[in-house]
Amino acid sequence: MVAHRPTNGRSHRQNRNALTTRRIIILGSTGSIGTQTLEVVTHLNALHARGLFQHRVEVVGLAAGKGAALLSDQASAFGVREVAIAEGNGVEIPGVHVRRGTDAAERLVREVECDVVLAAIVGSAGLPATLAAVQLGRDVALANKETLVAAGSLVVPASHQSGAKLLPVDSEHAAVWQCLQGFCEAPALKQPPRSVRRVILTASGGPFRTATSQQIAGATREQALKHPTWTMGAKVTIDSASLMNKALEIIEAHWLFALPGENIEAAVHPQSAAHAIVEFEDASMVAQLATPDMRGPIQTALTWPSRVASLVKPMPIGSGPMSLQFEAPDLQRFPLLATAYRAIREGGTSGAILNAANEEAVLAFLRDDAMRFGRISELVLDAIDAVSTSPLKSLDDALDADRRARAVVRDRLTRVTATAR
Ligand code: NDP
Repeated sequence: MVAHRPTNGRSHRQNRNALTTRRIIILGSTGSIGTQTLEVVTHLNALHARGLFQHRVEVVGLAAGKGAALLSDQASAFGVREVAIAEGNGVEIPGVHVRRGTDAAERLVREVECDVVLAAIVGSAGLPATLAAVQLGRDVALANKETLVAAGSLVVPASHQSGAKLLPVDSEHAAVWQCLQGFCEAPALKQPPRSVRRVILTASGGPFRTATSQQIAGATREQALKHPTWTMGAKVTIDSASLMNKALEIIEAHWLFALPGENIEAAVHPQSAAHAIVEFEDASMVAQLATPDMRGPIQTALTWPSRVASLVKPMPIGSGPMSLQFEAPDLQRFPLLATAYRAIREGGTSGAILNAANEEAVLAFLRDDAMRFGRISELVLDAIDAVSTSPLKSLDDALDADRRARAVVRDRLTRVTATAR
């Protein structure tokens, strides 16, 4: 028998490693999802070393906003030589190629070869780099929901053209996808999954689930940041308190699963145990349950289609009483939830406008001690009426709509400040 010899100058062992190594770029590595992703990577590599997971995961790129010290520590801990930082004038990391500036993350994605990009930059700032990853045919583990909200009509066709998969990291979408195993391919889908009647995304209800309209309107930043079940970055925590997060997720589900808005619903589920429910044509409902811990969906995206032991604690079903409660969301107290359906209906740049208006209003709320929570929804509802929607044909269209919506919110905020003087 003639032994097979590698023809590329590499040893058998090197070739085997190349096959089993998955190279990952983490965008937003210094944030809540980014740091948890690095925990998952460490865990998967420990499993790999014990022969319990097929792939070794190699971090080949990291991108951050302004957290230079943490970025540098991460690069050193994971042996990463290519990084990007948006606000990093003068940042140097010995032995590391540092890209700086607002387009640094996008350049990192374009310049560094990888198999998967984990997109966890917060807000529409993540759109250019995520779109670039999709256009290059990289699989994208997607946490940055704002990308699909602002430009789903660009990102999804680009994924179909390049063959990039959009592996959901958002827990509800990861849940929907798990409920659909066997009924569809990996997202983004080209057509709705067969036999699905509706998808229900659950929401914890946030810190104001039982508050009155008046209490919600007058709530402070500290009250809004007290999420009952999840520990997350500040922006998504505020979005959860206003249920805007669920609105963004309804739009995200529309793009990932090719479902019309009327087939996507939200239910308030205070225990955050069931993350989504899929109802099929035969009235059967399939739910995915897990302890609320983002390391679960992050790992599901990175290991798909395998399942291996995770860092998530199993839910204690059977060891004591456990109730699962589901409530219809109250649109009177949480008016931003309904904006999702309007944006899906109107199409074009309406998602980019909605998303940017919300980001700008949330930023102002996080910055300004005197601003009250109810002002966020007023500003967003005002801006989506004030900014006209146009067709979305390019990234520039999305970014232009984003700028126009932010300008309206800033203008309203300046006027209030001027009146108050
Ligand atoms: P964080 O605020 O904790 O982290 C945001 C990350 O984005 C940080 O690494 C930040 O860098 C980075 N960043 C901000 N602006 C830029 C920029 N211009 N260029 C490069 N990097 C930038 O947010 P989360 O981790 O909570 O959320 C990230 C995304 O994941 C959001 O879209 C959110 O909706 C989504 N998500 C989050 C969940 C969670 O549990 N946290 C759950 C589901 C979805 P730095 O800190 O260095 O400035």
